[in-house]
Amino acid sequence: MFTHTFSIAMVALSIGLSSLNSCSQPSQVSAGESTASAHAAISPTTAPGQGGTLTFDPADTAWTAKVEKSEDDWRKLLPADVFEITRQEGTEPAYSSPLYELKDKGMFYCVCCANPLFTSKTKFHSGTGWPSFWQPYASKSVAVKLDQSHGMVREEVECARCGAHLGHVFDDGPEPTGLRYCMDGLALHFVASK
Ligand SMILES: [Zn+2]
Repeated sequence: MFTHTFSIAMVALSIGLSSLNSCSQPSQVSAGESTASAHAAISPTTAPGQGGTLTFDPADTAWTAKVEKSEDDWRKLLPADVFEITRQEGTEPAYSSPLYELKDKGMFYCVCCANPLFTSKTKFHSGTGWPSFWQPYASKSVAVKLDQSHGMVREEVECARCGAHLGHVFDDGPEPTGLRYCMDGLALHFVASK
């Protein structure tokens, strides 16, 4: 059996080896400091608009940090279509997002709060017309809750940091998870890896 100390060393090693698109599980790391230093070589990207100027940083894994704003504040910060999707549980038309066909490598962030949500490594062509992934970046990236609106029982996916509505998750996805995270492209901000 591994000792506690040895387990920590193994976690630190795996983080040190992880890359931008890694699907390792940073949620296992309690020390945010070590996570940040392990990703120090990756430059964060800053972009204007969409909730003010946000810094999109793949090392930003402060999973417990919450972003809370009033509905009025979000309405002022976000373009109308993004507000409708993310803050009012809207759904964009199928095939409307340029992210649906995107095959570039990189990270998909929450458009409202820059929380890292998905990597291109888990994106797949679902045929549905919405960007689809079989796994979030980390288990704590998103929150799932029951949605019984529109006469259906579905599992709604939210950003775990700011509560933005992102889409729904279904159990007809590909291996290895068998899950299909069906996302609204308007809720995502993509940054290509260099
Ligand atoms: Zn968010």
